[in-house]
Amino acid sequence: MRSTESTSPCQLVTLASGPLVRVDRCMDCGTITLHLGAVSLRLDRAAAESLWTTLGHGLGSQTELPRESLGDHGRFAH
Ligand SMILES: [Zn+2]
Repeated sequence: MRSTESTSPCQLVTLASGPLVRVDRCMDCGTITLHLGAVSLRLDRAAAESLWTTLGHGLGSQTELPRESLGDHGRFAH
């Protein structure tokens, strides 16, 4: 009875894990799997790198926003 093995042909190895996301990689075909809570995203390596790059650009642009202007905005009066 190998019915349980056929449902998961990929041999996943955890590359990294955090409080929100776990990153697995298949040692057989190289597919990257992102586990986000109950959601699993399966990507090939190029797609995973593209996602990572886009994510980095998005977060990088946000850090350029000055936080002080938000906090001081209400008090700023001449
Ligand atoms: Zn695989």
